[in-house]
Amino acid sequence: MTYPHTQLFIHGQWRDASAGETLPVFNPATGKEIGRVAHARQADLDLALDAAQKGFEVWRDKAPVERAKIMRAAAGLMRERAGAIAALLTQEQGKPLAEAKGEAMAAADIIEWFADEGQRVYGRIVPSRGNLAMRQMVLKDPVGPVAAFTPWNFPINQVVRKLAAALATGCSMIVKAPEETPAAPAELVRAFADAGLPPGVLGLVYGTPSEISSYLIAHPVIRKITFTGSTPVGKQLAAMAGQHMKRVTMELGGHAPVIVAEDADVALAVKTAGGAKFRNAGQVCISPTRFLVHESIAKEFSAALVKHAAGLAVGDGSAEGTQMGPLANPRRVTAMAEFTQDAVERGATLATGGERIGDEGNFWRPTILTDVPLNARVFNDEPFGPMAAVRSFNTLDEAIAEANRLPYGLAGYAFTRSLKNADLLARRVEVGMLWVNMPAMPSAEMPFGGLKDSGYGSEGGPEAMEAYLNARSVAIMNV
Ligand code: NAD
Repeated sequence: MTYPHTQLFIHGQWRDASAGETLPVFNPATGKEIGRVAHARQADLDLALDAAQKGFEVWRDKAPVERAKIMRAAAGLMRERAGAIAALLTQEQGKPLAEAKGEAMAAADIIEWFADEGQRVYGRIVPSRGNLAMRQMVLKDPVGPVAAFTPWNFPINQVVRKLAAALATGCSMIVKAPEETPAAPAELVRAFADAGLPPGVLGLVYGTPSEISSYLIAHPVIRKITFTGSTPVGKQLAAMAGQHMKRVTMELGGHAPVIVAEDADVALAVKTAGGAKFRNAGQVCISPTRFLVHESIAKEFSAALVKHAAGLAVGDGSAEGTQMGPLANPRRVTAMAEFTQDAVERGATLATGGERIGDEGNFWRPTILTDVPLNARVFNDEPFGPMAAVRSFNTLDEAIAEANRLPYGLAGYAFTRSLKNADLLARRVEVGMLWVNMPAMPSAEMPFGGLKDSGYGSEGGPEAMEAYLNARSVAIMNV
């Protein structure tokens, strides 16, 4: 599929930026420019804000069952178009085609779950304390127009988790999608537009992230902010939202511990965590990153993980048989080189990888570092790339203390055959999501979100709906 020029979507119309400005889009497998994306300025944002307010007034008053029909139609279009959308996503982001298609298909599942959930937004009738002539009610109403800021690692998924919940509750939304990967999120928006979403309910803009976020967050039309991205940017945006008393959901970075206990099934741990580690070239907020392995099995585990990593077929995501694509941008290649050099200088062993592949595109060899000291950067800052850092531990308490040492608290993994260990880990590991003896299985129906510096709020389950609802008390005296 030819790569398109991506436009803004404002008040139901695809359009270029008012000033005609654009930004280049590159294919991370070749480093070559493949297209352009419209760059919005304040005049475009003003149009989008006006449309979002008008769209909200229409959508808020639509019956939930009617909203669900449009959402289901959009989900159907995403499924029908998944192959074509995947081809765009791979070109701009790099992930293998199968992963890209999976992302488009998963979007359809998420939309459908929220379409149904939107029909079950119940308030309450609460018995009054004294006077039976008084009827007191709890009403649940949509918060209003939402501003969403989403990153490039899952250009569709990061939008749809926010959008589906917002639309299901009756909110309108302006999405500032990633400039580096603009075409795939635009296809998600197109599915809703083609499904009959009324004009203004959904807007799509691109431009300079800080310019757009500071304008939208401060603007009185916007009632809620939702952001997925790095912790430092999340803190800046949350502070700005606080100044304007706007509601916020923050889905930020992580540094997921993987605790492999003495009684773990080592083959299962390697297969599961190894598979998860290199998905999307490790550019995943819930990617397993700090591997904590019991000392009695550390050598066996590391050797098997190295074999897995070294055997992966790395290449252009569009090519048949590719298991891991390039990194999404040159910044990540630089970061991988810095993490590797720092770890080795501090005494870690580079067991495999640790270098760039070729000089075209952003390819990095899957990397395993063992005996990594705690002060190595890779054990403290989110690597966000195809890199696993391994250390051994002696007691499970020691592993739990290490898992909880960092300010991050997004995802965690554990492998153990003991119910007692699993229960202890479930209670003690400070993460928003823990998976034991299995890969990550985020789904629309389960809460998705972090603790501590990984953010707050949830992007799954009924909790995700609450994020877009106001609960109001109304009491009526029957006189
Ligand atoms: P970055 O911190 O510059 O940007 C992260 C995201 O935030 C990007 O999508 C960017 O467009 C957006 N952003 C940056 N400044 C913004 C602003 N002022 N207002 C609104 N949006 C803004 O980092 P990067 O180099 O693009 O990505 C690398 C880091 O970002 C990673 O190390 C990782 O920690 C984090 N990240 C996290 C996720 C996630 O799923 N939680 C996704 C992508 C990136």
